[in-house]
Amino acid sequence: TAPLLQVDNLKVHFPLPAAGLLRRSAGAVKAVDGVSFSLNAGETLGLVGESGCGKSTTGLAVLRMQPVTSGRVIFEGADITTQQARTGTFRRRMQMVYQDPYGSLNPRMKVRDLVGEPLQVHGMDKNPGEYQDRIAGLLKTVGLLPDMADRYPHEFSGGQRQRIGIARALALEPSLIICDEPVSALDVSIQAQVVNVLQELQERLGLAYLFIAHDLAVVRHLSHRVAVMYLGRIVEIASRDDLYRAPLHPYTQALLSAVPVADPVVERARQRIVVQGEVPSALKPPPGCRFHTRCPHAMAKCRTDDPPLADLSHLGAGRAVACHLHTVSAPVSAGSTALAA
Ligand code: SF4
Ligand code: MG
Repeated sequence: TAPLLQVDNLKVHFPLPAAGLLRRSAGAVKAVDGVSFSLNAGETLGLVGESGCGKSTTGLAVLRMQPVTSGRVIFEGADITTQQARTGTFRRRMQMVYQDPYGSLNPRMKVRDLVGEPLQVHGMDKNPGEYQDRIAGLLKTVGLLPDMADRYPHEFSGGQRQRIGIARALALEPSLIICDEPVSALDVSIQAQVVNVLQELQERLGLAYLFIAHDLAVVRHLSHRVAVMYLGRIVEIASRDDLYRAPLHPYTQALLSAVPVADPVVERARQRIVVQGEVPSALKPPPGCRFHTRCPHAMAKCRTDDPPLADLSHLGAGRAVACHLHTVSAPVSAGSTALAA
């Protein structure tokens, strides 16, 4: 069966205004620079990387809230690349949960209207009885009480506000929710509750999530597969278990080595890999492998040759890595050796 979402060679470049006497183009920030992945119905793909790697921009481009420079976004069998979030028919089926539960809800709107607004926009509020039932049902779905509908966002905690945001996202019965750091603004004790709500909803409603986060422990908890981004590219993609058990890309290895392990014996024995230096500018990404300026394994060819995201499915279903350590050129076959001799 076709995937729910397919993203092909997506690029989002932000041109800088021309500068100087000759009005020369100052170039473009290559926030997303050739990203491809697919997502199945009912699946969670974690999208991880340091801030500024392009993961949020990728999410916004998929939602068509960000113009695409090139590439394609296919959703539920339709090419939506040239549609816009505001007018696109796909938007009922693809929703977003934002990072900031304090800033993303209009403080002057009651919960009833926050949750019901998507229904109003689509003219689904014509039968008052059904409409009120629907709002009560949505609140219940995310673990809130129906009598909370007449209160304002400021009367709620961060975790409750994020539940309101989720209820709003669910109103139009989407098949995909883009979650951009949905729990990173919440207290650690509240994060697990919201993550559990998302997981329960997935099981019950068959939702797919593109789960954008920098917290690798949260991503591990709820993702089926994980894609790691660095400077606008996916450098590794794998099943959750393959990625966390045996990361192949040096950048993934470094990211994971910085996550504390619960088992104190493992915690003491493991080696922390320190990545040198700063993330380079996405205005002028390093030539060759973009990670070579910080990679502990960099070789001469890494400075000149850009490693493609190579299929390593013999090491695990759907595995792919962009690193010369894992994409050695195919050995000369026995047949051609015999010919040469
Ligand atoms: Fe490191 Fe080279 Fe692999 Fe890039 S291609 S991650 S520089 S070893
Ligand atoms: Mg972000």
